[in-house]
Amino acid sequence: MKTSFEKIFERIDFSKIFRELEERKAKEVGIQLPDGLKFFSKEFAEKFEEKGFDVIISGSASYGACDIDISLLDEVDILVHFAHLPVGSVERVIYAPYYYNYEIENLESWIDRIEERKIALAGTAQYAWKFPEVKRYLEGRGVEVELGGARGRIGISGQVLGCNYSVLRDIGAKAILFIGDGMFHPRGAAIYSGRKVYFFNPLANEFTVIGKEFVERFLRERYIQISRAMQNLENGVAIVVSSKIGQKRLSTARRLKSIAKKKGMKSDILFFNEISPERFMNFPYGVYVNTACPRITYDDFRKYEKPLLTPQEFEILVGKRDWEDYKIDEIDEIG
Ligand code: SF4
Repeated sequence: MKTSFEKIFERIDFSKIFRELEERKAKEVGIQLPDGLKFFSKEFAEKFEEKGFDVIISGSASYGACDIDISLLDEVDILVHFAHLPVGSVERVIYAPYYYNYEIENLESWIDRIEERKIALAGTAQYAWKFPEVKRYLEGRGVEVELGGARGRIGISGQVLGCNYSVLRDIGAKAILFIGDGMFHPRGAAIYSGRKVYFFNPLANEFTVIGKEFVERFLRERYIQISRAMQNLENGVAIVVSSKIGQKRLSTARRLKSIAKKKGMKSDILFFNEISPERFMNFPYGVYVNTACPRITYDDFRKYEKPLLTPQEFEILVGKRDWEDYKIDEIDEIG
C-alpha cells in the first residue's frame, strides 16, 4: 500500500527536476510548495537531500505560479516551485507541475447527460494535460470537441486559471465540459463564457451541471458590491496592487487612478505583499479595487468590511463601462 506522499510523488517528474538542477550546477535549492503539500515538506526535503542538494523550504504562500518566493530565490541557486505551470518565466526558477492521471473511461457513465453534440473542453493544468486523449475519447463517441490553444500565461491547450479563461475566448460550442476538482474554475468558465458548463470531477467521479441560475446569482452579488461602493465613495478609493510578480498590475492601477482623478474622486494606490482583510484594517478608504489575483475579489469579498471591486467593476462604478458589458477580471498583462 502506497503512503500519501508516495502517491503525490508519482504525480511529479522528479528525474526532470534533478537533471535540470545538475545541468545548472545547483548546490542549494529552495523548495516552494502550495499549502496543500506543505504537510509533506520533510519528505520533499529528503528527496532533494538524497541527491546531495542542500534545501531551504519556503514558508510563504504559494497560490499559483504568479506567486514566486523572490526573497528565497535571492538566497539559493535555484528555486523549485511545485504544483503550477509557469505563467511567465523567471530566471533560476524550475516549475514542477503536478498531474492527476485520471481514468477518462469514467466519463462513460455521464456522457449521456451531455445534450449538445459539440462542446469546448476546459480544465485546470492538473487535468488538462490529458485533453488530447479526452478529445479523442469524446470524438469516438460522436461529440465534437473544441480545444482552445495555449497563449500568454496559459501553458497547455484547454487550461484555465482563476485569472485567465482565454481558451474559451472564441469558442463556437454552446456548452463546456470542465474537468477539475473544485467549483471555482468551472463557475468562472460559466461566468466568462455565458455557456452551460458540465463539470466532471474525476477524483470524486461526480458530474454536475452549472446553468444560468448560477451566473445570475453571481452577477446579483457583484451588482450589490458596486451599489455598496457607490454609497461609500466619500471616504476615497484604494487601488490595491500586489507585489507578487505574476499579479503586479501597476499599469492597470495607474490607469484606474487617472480615471478616478478625472471623475474628481480621491484615490490612492496601495502596494501589498500579501492581501488580506487584516492588512486593510488600518486604512481609511471606503472602497477597495483589487488589481491582484481576481480570486481575492470573487472568493473572499465577504471577508472584507468595505466593498471590494474588480477593475472592470470600478469602471462600471465611475460610468466608464456599462453594466451590460460586465466582464470577469482576467490577467493578461503584468507590470
Ligand atoms: S493570479 Fe490568482 S488565479 Fe492567476 S495564477 Fe495567480 S493565484 Fe492563480
